[in-house]
Amino acid sequence: MGRPRRAEPSTSGEPDQSGPVAAPKHRRAHHEEVRRMPAAHRPPRLFDVREIYAEPAAAASPRGRQVLARFPDARVVEVPSHWRIPHLHGNAGNVERWARIKSEVVVLGEKKSLAARPNGRSADFIAPSSANGCALACAYCYVPRRKGYANPITVFTNIDRIVAYLAGHVRRQGRKREPDQCDPTAWVYDIGENNDCSVDALICDNTADLVRAFRHWPTAKASFATKWVNRDLLALDPRGRTRIRFSLMPPADARLLDVRTSPVPERVAAAGDFLAAGYEVHFNLSPVVLREGWQADWADLLRRMDDLLPAAVKAQAAAEIIMLTHNQELHQVNLGWHPRAEDLLWRPGLQEAKRSGNGAWNVRYRAGLKAGALAELRGLIAAHAPWLRVRYAF
Ligand code: SF4
Repeated sequence: MGRPRRAEPSTSGEPDQSGPVAAPKHRRAHHEEVRRMPAAHRPPRLFDVREIYAEPAAAASPRGRQVLARFPDARVVEVPSHWRIPHLHGNAGNVERWARIKSEVVVLGEKKSLAARPNGRSADFIAPSSANGCALACAYCYVPRRKGYANPITVFTNIDRIVAYLAGHVRRQGRKREPDQCDPTAWVYDIGENNDCSVDALICDNTADLVRAFRHWPTAKASFATKWVNRDLLALDPRGRTRIRFSLMPPADARLLDVRTSPVPERVAAAGDFLAAGYEVHFNLSPVVLREGWQADWADLLRRMDDLLPAAVKAQAAAEIIMLTHNQELHQVNLGWHPRAEDLLWRPGLQEAKRSGNGAWNVRYRAGLKAGALAELRGLIAAHAPWLRVRYAF
C-alpha cells in the first residue's frame, strides 16, 4: 500500500459514450488550459500526516490498520473518543494552523449510532457518515462548525457495520413508487454530508466500499458532492448506482473560497470521464455568492459548461442550486486565517439572521434578494445551458 497520490489536473481526452474518438478541438484546448494552469491555482499536496488520533478499537480494526499503514511515520495518539480531542477541536490557537492541521492530522473513530435520516431535498436519506471533517478548506464550509476549528478528517473505521445497516435500510424501503425531486426511481442516499468522499478515498477504502455496495442495490443510489477530482474513483465500476455531484462556482470565486480544492476547470473536465466510468454525473451550483458582477461570471461558467461537456453528460445532468449561508462563529474564526474570504462571505447589508435546526444562528441572503437572485440564475441557465435541469434550488 503506497502513500496517497495527489490527483493531477486532467490532461487526458474526454471519452464519450461512443468510444475512444478524439476530443473536439475546443475540449482539447480546455485540457491544455488546465495543464498549463499556474501552480498557484493548482491544488497543493493534500496530506503530510504527522499525527493520528485514534480510539483504540478503531486503530485495531482492519480499516484503522489500513490508514495507519498508509502513514507509517505518523505519531499515533490514543484518545477515548473522536468527539473529545480538546487539543484539536477546542483550541482557538489552532486557527492560524487551519490548513496545516487538515494536512497533518487524521482521526480514527467508530460511528456509534447508525441511522439514515430522511432528507427529501438533495437525497431521500442522509446515510450514516463514513467520515466527518475534511482535508479541503472551503471558507464557507459548515463542517468545521460541528466539531470546532479546523476539523480534519475523522475516518469511521466500522464501515462494515455502516454498509450492513444501509443494506437493511434499503431492503426495508422496497421499490420507490413515486418519482420525487431526488430521483425518479431510486432511493437516493447522501453518503457525504460531512465530508468529501473523493478526498476520503485518498486515505482509505470507505468510499470504495460504499460505491461497491450500492452497485448491488437496484432500488437505491449513493450520492455525494465533491470538489476534488480523484481519478482513482474511475476504477470502482459503480454501474450507475452512484451519483457524483461536482460542485461548481465561477473560478474567480473558487480561487478565493475553495481553498485546497481541485480547480473548477478540472472538475468540469472530469465529468465526461466519470460518466464513461459508470457514474451518474450531476452538478452542484454552490454556493452562489452574491457580489458585484456575479451574473456575468455565472453566465461565463454556464457557457463554458455548454461548450465543453460531452453530449452524453448533458443528456443526464441535473443541478442543485444552493445559495450561500454563513455563520457568525465561522465568520469570526475565518477572520483569523482567511480574512479576504470574509469580504465576499460576510455581507450584513445583504443578509439576515436565521435560526437553524440545531439552534445556531446562521445568516442567509435577505428573502427578497435571494428569490430575485435565484430567478436570475435560473434565467442564465435557460439562456446558456438549457439542457441543465434544476433538481432543486435552496
Ligand atoms: S469540500 Fe465540502 S466538506 Fe470539504 S471543506 Fe469544502 S465544503 Fe467542506
